[in-house]
Amino acid sequence: MQLPNAWPPGDLRSLYLHWTAGDYATVFPAYHVCIALDPRGEPVAHVTHDLRANMRDVREPGPPYAAHTAGRNSHAIGLAICGMRDATPHDFGAFPLLEPMLALGCAAAARLCAFYGIAIEPAHVLTHAEAALADGYFGSGEDQRWDIARLSPRPAPLVPDDAARAGDELRARIRAA
Ligand SMILES: [Zn+2]
Repeated sequence: MQLPNAWPPGDLRSLYLHWTAGDYATVFPAYHVCIALDPRGEPVAHVTHDLRANMRDVREPGPPYAAHTAGRNSHAIGLAICGMRDATPHDFGAFPLLEPMLALGCAAAARLCAFYGIAIEPAHVLTHAEAALADGYFGSGEDQRWDIARLSPRPAPLVPDDAARAGDELRARIRAA
């Protein structure tokens, strides 16, 4: 898999995992790295925002940064898996999470954590859903977030425990990558 081996040196302390809620090809500069599908259907990692933009306290006035996780963007990396447009907890829709994309996302996260010295623990490596749970906006409603609280659709209603379980599973996969 083609991932950069070198990243810009600097002070990054946490990493947030997202999905884009778009299709498999469209990438967004709100994240630093997007895992997309190339025209052959192979997963590919795109650097969509310079990591240096978030190597600061973004509450201070300054140049634009990747705004991926409300209130948590200082010294924070945003990594997104492309897909999940119009997805619900029980129906992932036309662009469901794909295993090869998750695998590349976990590999990219592992490289980034190793390079920046970020511990793969819930305090530092977490999903947007876990951040939303802590900050009071977890859920599948319009102004809520649940990425990545499920890795596959289930009929059961979305509950906070989904966020913790998916986060634990993703951290285990990042540690193993
Ligand atoms: Zn998100």
